[in-house]
Amino acid sequence: MKATGFAARTADGPLAPFEFERRAPRQNDVVIDIEYCGVCHTDLHLARNHFGFTTYPIVPGHEIIGRVREVGSGVARFKAGDWVGVGCMVDSCRHCQPCHRGWEQDCVEGPTFSYASTDRQDGSVTYGGYSDSIVVREEFVLAVPDGLDPAGAAPLLCAGVTTWSPLHRWKVGKDSKVAVVGLGGLGHMALKLAKALGADVTLFTRSAGKEVDAYRLGADHVVLSTDQAQMKAVGGQFDVIIDTVPYDHDVNPYMPTLTLQGVLVLVGYMGPLGTPVNAGGVVHGRRAISGSFIGGIPETQEMLDFCGRHGVVSDVEIIPIQEINQAYERLAKGDVKYRFVIDMVTLKA
Ligand code: NAP
Ligand code: ZN
Ligand code: ZN
Repeated sequence: MKATGFAARTADGPLAPFEFERRAPRQNDVVIDIEYCGVCHTDLHLARNHFGFTTYPIVPGHEIIGRVREVGSGVARFKAGDWVGVGCMVDSCRHCQPCHRGWEQDCVEGPTFSYASTDRQDGSVTYGGYSDSIVVREEFVLAVPDGLDPAGAAPLLCAGVTTWSPLHRWKVGKDSKVAVVGLGGLGHMALKLAKALGADVTLFTRSAGKEVDAYRLGADHVVLSTDQAQMKAVGGQFDVIIDTVPYDHDVNPYMPTLTLQGVLVLVGYMGPLGTPVNAGGVVHGRRAISGSFIGGIPETQEMLDFCGRHGVVSDVEIIPIQEINQAYERLAKGDVKYRFVIDMVTLKA
């Protein structure tokens, strides 16, 4: 099946138009016309080869919203015209223990990612959502609740579920005190979701001037992480901290702000921490450092349904696909309010 999109061909070159073949739809596949795709910082990491394993060309994009064009004969849950979503995964082994538990992101064999991955059946390379269409097996297609703005819903497929999953795991509710480190794509979704779950919510930011937005997005308090007096004033407070910072940073200053048995959950950065964790900061107060990787398909659907009930969507800046390179430059500088979303109609321009 012919498809068109935007691809990076080298680590430092611009993303540019790219024509390619999608695999022919199988019996259990859903063919989706993509309407919107969010721009995650992970797209930038992979397009720019920050992790050192990117192969080119790469078509990024894993916050996909579109309408069903057609379905295979074995598909029961979707029909042409339905609004649907696709996140970071398009397949997994579906028989290991994590898959049975609905944790496909931790599939023992490794899930098939929406882009820069290998199709489990025919070995073809997967291409992501910066394109006009995608073919995905039914089980990995999410239903988008009626009434959610489709452009605003796109970032829920990654930024939404990545912050929802740890909030859910650590049982955040109306008696919880939650803090979020970093106000970007993931951070603003964490504020909105924690607030909608009823928690008292604090933003840690390195950027003075984000306060007004933070309060509008759901924060009850804002702490400038570079100000030691402000950091000290929130000592011993938080049950859960969701740390969305994308690059190496010192986590030690956040540890004393956790309550007894509180947990700091890393979701932004996945490499070695340059500043060693002070064991005293976790030993005293039985505090913990944890991590979390996107979320499984069942919890992604739960999160979407929750967002449908609570009217939660991302704050987006809609861009034509021709502006993707400028968007990456702005993302690298932290200049985004709070998620770029590509309007895929512009691909035809
Ligand atoms: P983003 O929109 O660029 O936001 C990152 C925010 O982190 C910035 O707005 C900034 O907020 C803060 N920050 C602090 N130090 C920074 C630094 N040195 N450089 C840049 N930003 C800094 O990114 P995102 O899309 O939310 O993604 C965040 C990270 O999560 C990325 O590394 C991405 O790859 C990762 N990610 C992980 C998962 C997972 O499954 N665990 C899923 C999706 C994305 P302030 O100005 O407020 O400090
Ligand atoms: Zn992402
Ligand atoms: Zn599996």
